[in-house]
Amino acid sequence: MSRATLRRVVVLGATGSIGVSTLDVVERHPDRFEVYALTAHRQIDRLYEQCLRFRPACAVVDRATDAQALAARLRAAGCPTEVLHGEAALVEVAAHPSADVVMAAIVGAAGLRPTLAAARAGKCVLLANKEALVLGGALFMQAVREGGATLLPIDSEHNAVFQSLPPAYDGRLEGAGVRRILLTASGGPFRDVPLSALDSVTPEQACAHPNWVMGRKISVDSATMMNKGLEVIEAHWLFTAPADRIEVVVHPQSVIHSMVEYVDGSVIAQLGNPDMRTPIAHALGFPDRIEAGVSSLDLFLIGQLTFQRPDMERFPCLRLAYDALRAGGAAPAVLNAANEEAVAAFLDGRIGFRAICEVIACALERGHGLSVESLEAVLESDRRARELARAAIARQEGR
Ligand code: NAD
Ligand code: MG
Repeated sequence: MSRATLRRVVVLGATGSIGVSTLDVVERHPDRFEVYALTAHRQIDRLYEQCLRFRPACAVVDRATDAQALAARLRAAGCPTEVLHGEAALVEVAAHPSADVVMAAIVGAAGLRPTLAAARAGKCVLLANKEALVLGGALFMQAVREGGATLLPIDSEHNAVFQSLPPAYDGRLEGAGVRRILLTASGGPFRDVPLSALDSVTPEQACAHPNWVMGRKISVDSATMMNKGLEVIEAHWLFTAPADRIEVVVHPQSVIHSMVEYVDGSVIAQLGNPDMRTPIAHALGFPDRIEAGVSSLDLFLIGQLTFQRPDMERFPCLRLAYDALRAGGAAPAVLNAANEEAVAAFLDGRIGFRAICEVIACALERGHGLSVESLEAVLESDRRARELARAAIARQEGR
């Protein structure tokens, strides 16, 4: 490959689990990729190390004080990276003419504006930040169409579905002969513990995922299975699939990353070791296949692949997500915002594990009359849902 085809990459959320895995893949292919910008919220030391290694044109942090300090350290080390701060700078680097590929790996609703900006600017958007899609799905998909962006899913399930759909899939399940999308789920760390034990689980137990190493928020989402609920909504937007065409299958080994069933009875699956570098490399290299550093799948060692129906009593968050998708409108946005607040409160030790679902249910019950028609309306719905969730959290704390 010649120098002329070098693609310039922006990693939004470079210091997180997905960001680090992305840079691991990028570093294996200096002939294909160059880093244009890296962003981080609070992990300034890690961002500093990444800047020395990848020498991006820009780095973005949240606070002005952190930006000044980082800029001084980088200058002293002879690194030419310019340091910016704040949300406007995130939007600026995501949409910058010098960027070709944008990895959207900020966690939560905070990623919405820069991810939307990348879509509007027609970038190749690698979407890990599922919350942005749950919050502003219609808006985001419209931005992708109007901006002429290429959207490639990073979430392992959606990347697996994407790989299992026909290459020319145009967003019409019927036209492609698809009967169902089967999203696999590990069931998280609490798949088999007695229901009564769920009252007293700690954040550390909830974050100890059996198969994947991930950020804390998504780890808690996996433990409640809200992660799968968010992924059902994500699949709805990515593949224009109604709720009743998306089925969740618990598959504890996390080897089959998801499947597509066709009208002729064929089921196409994507398999691999549970390592996010596979979907990341798939999307970075697309349509080429590139080395990801992932070891071969040892089926003899794995021995068995098993499947279960999800238990909605154990995982009420999954039911709430399906209900929100069917309700439509601002319900998924309320679900997402209330979940972010409830998970943060759980991680802070302010509410118990089971209360996460109660807080979300409460916000959904009260969050009427909200809209997701425009970016302003989406952000207002997000803000209002957080208020409702915080009130519900305060009531839980008072118990
Ligand atoms: P993480 O917590 O490890 O990293 C989050 C990143 O976002 C960090 O770089 C952090 O600095 C940045 N960030 C956090 N808050 C921010 C804010 N307010 N403004 C700007 N930047 C902010 O999270 P992660 O596990 O890497 O997950 C990132 C996204 O990818 C999430 O949406 C998650 O659902 C999705 N995802 C993750 C995995 C995984 O295996 N980790 C798998 C599938 C999807
Ligand atoms: Mg996933």
